[in-house]
Amino acid sequence: MTTPLQTGGCQCGAVRFSVEGTLGDASVCHCRMCQKAFGNFYAPLVSVRDAKLVWTRGAPKYFQSSNFVKRGFCGDCGTPLCYEAPDGIGLAIAVFDDPESIVPTIQWGVEAKLSYVDQIPDLPGEDTMADQDAASFLAHLVSYQHPDHDTEIWPLERRT
Ligand SMILES: [Zn+2]
Repeated sequence: MTTPLQTGGCQCGAVRFSVEGTLGDASVCHCRMCQKAFGNFYAPLVSVRDAKLVWTRGAPKYFQSSNFVKRGFCGDCGTPLCYEAPDGIGLAIAVFDDPESIVPTIQWGVEAKLSYVDQIPDLPGEDTMADQDAASFLAHLVSYQHPDHDTEIWPLERRT
């Protein structure tokens, strides 16, 4: 059996990583610090645990969010990338090239959970192209987002 290798990185492609080996627990954290760090309702994180993490392009910048924890992000595009504590590193799940494969199994910080989070699955849902007012804008949209795989030429070919 081969050792699992997973890759990921930020939206602009300036920071890329690989993780070799089996990842630890995947979770979402509702605590107020994770909400701020991700600019989101909660933070999806997977523990690196015994896997080998390598920053293969660039490196995160860090904000020391407490005496014990620092938060890593891309200094160019701002994508949240990781959580580093004395007991280990967590990687943001959605920055993996294949986030579908990393399934959360537990929630933390539920005392700070925003009251409407549990109602989101009950909201009406529409496909992106269902918004007719945005159709002409979407038809001409050119993505500058890094593709979900490693590439030699990115971001040199990127338009800025
Ligand atoms: Zn970036």
